[in-house]
Amino acid sequence: MRTRILCNILILLGLFLSLPSHAATVQGVRLWAGPDQHRLVFDLSGPAEHKLFVLHNPERVVVDIKDARLASRLPTLGGDRGLIRGLRSARHKGQLRVVLDMRQRVQPKSFLLKPTQKYGHRLVIDLEAARSKPAVVRRSAPVTTGQARDVVIAIDAGHGGDDPGASGRRGTREKDVVLAIARRLQRLIRDEPGMRPVMIRTGDYYVSLRKRMQRAREQRADLFVSIHADAFRDGRARGASVWVLSQKGATSEAGRWLAASENNADLIGGVSLDDKDDLLASVLLDLSQNATIAASLDVGALVLKELRKVGRVHKPRVEQAGFVVLKSPDIPSILVETGFISNRQEERNLRNGAYQQKVARAVLRGVRGYFTRNPPPGTLLAQRAGQQHVIRRGETLSGIAQRYRVSQQRLRLANNLSDDRVRVGQRLSIPVM
Ligand SMILES: [Zn+2]
Repeated sequence: MRTRILCNILILLGLFLSLPSHAATVQGVRLWAGPDQHRLVFDLSGPAEHKLFVLHNPERVVVDIKDARLASRLPTLGGDRGLIRGLRSARHKGQLRVVLDMRQRVQPKSFLLKPTQKYGHRLVIDLEAARSKPAVVRRSAPVTTGQARDVVIAIDAGHGGDDPGASGRRGTREKDVVLAIARRLQRLIRDEPGMRPVMIRTGDYYVSLRKRMQRAREQRADLFVSIHADAFRDGRARGASVWVLSQKGATSEAGRWLAASENNADLIGGVSLDDKDDLLASVLLDLSQNATIAASLDVGALVLKELRKVGRVHKPRVEQAGFVVLKSPDIPSILVETGFISNRQEERNLRNGAYQQKVARAVLRGVRGYFTRNPPPGTLLAQRAGQQHVIRRGETLSGIAQRYRVSQQRLRLANNLSDDRVRVGQRLSIPVM
């Protein structure tokens, strides 16, 4: 009897305690703005129910958060660019209503995230600029008569926005250093005849793993290069590594661990799991994956060989694991772990501009080596591949370089020449541009 009363008291007490604590406080609002997608994150004191809807003319996105209040005023999202014009709040039937005034029509998506190491409860609103027509995904290059196209390299800086990736002892964040290296690689590829870079992420915002692949497809990339930096609980672990997709499980325990932590990005960065698009279906169905993995292994090996010249490598060969971001069925894809941000020396290196440039150059050399040997049909590189020239009397290396519009240095490299001397009858292979 007495115990029953005690129980009832406890239940009542529980009710009283839980009721007021349901009221969530919005402790802060953060915005991550990409060119055509924004992520707005509300930091909450606890879980909260919410509703999201869109109003047109003018375009607005409305979020109602049940039993919530603002801890402070909403930030002004000033600036004359971006999708959001302004942010305002009101009380509406006992709820907190936040209205986003939009510059254009958007497709919003919202979801709640549970606390992680870095953050508490969050309400995430992803806003994507609405497209007038659904994106047409075409893979084959357009047929243009007589005009060769560039080889397209998709450069994917890992993480971004509210997903910082790994971090070092001195506070270096993976998302920052990999973006810096990606930008350096972008410039190098831009200067590379016959190649064109495409950046998957251009600033500090999060892009879901599937969207990264989708962007590469839309740009008809010939190669996808994802740039990352490792972390491990043992600060002694060091060295770069190159990864490609495995179809069945990872080649090592470390691979499983790493793939799990990289794939987790979507959970940390917080992508709703209803993100099953057509691409996923095609990924699961496509049988061309084996050939793509073989090509990825080839590129990966060349990149790894070049990275070995820059510094230590963690593993002597290309490793394989189930990275989601590498799952494009028909685009060879590699993931470069540029070093261990958890290692003091490597953290210092990764912050260093000169070192970043060395890493970017190594990746470029590997990629160039692959496409020189395997130029995709219809590209400038394919046009130039295999061309030869037989030296006639009076010809000089500089003359030939001029005629084929390649640098003398390239010509020397391609033919293993230590100086500018050539002899009559000598057969020179003409490098790609
Ligand atoms: Zn990473």
